[in-house]
Amino acid sequence: MNGRGPRIRGHHLICLQFFHGEGYSPKFAHNLFHVIDRFTHGATGTVVIGPDDVCAACPALENGRCAQEPDSEEAIRVLDALALEMLELEADEEFDWGVATLSVQRILERWRALACDGCDWEEVCRPLIDQTAGYPRT
Ligand code: SF4
Repeated sequence: MNGRGPRIRGHHLICLQFFHGEGYSPKFAHNLFHVIDRFTHGATGTVVIGPDDVCAACPALENGRCAQEPDSEEAIRVLDALALEMLELEADEEFDWGVATLSVQRILERWRALACDGCDWEEVCRPLIDQTAGYPRT
């Protein structure tokens, strides 16, 4: 598939891998399915700094900023920067979803240790992350 693919901020590159239907609203979840569908049909993504095509349908997006909490946009940009550093991607860089998925698997344990604590979606993601990371170890 050609044409402009989804624009994705750093931490969403990781978190989207574990989405399976939950979200802040039905519109938000529907949009997430749409974004993932575009990737699975071959769209190439582009890394953006700040609100992306996921945020676009989020009820927390206000005036082009994440307004989940008063300082959310700043805090999330720090998380985005960490994700991009780990995934070795930069702003405006294009990425292939399949390659990104493999990269996420490579950094997942480190990401989980640094970023997942206290996230609203931790309980939702945990079983899938456990599966991907090979937990529980026996
Ligand atoms: S909570 Fe904030 S960062 Fe997350 S999707 Fe909504 S606007 Fe974007």
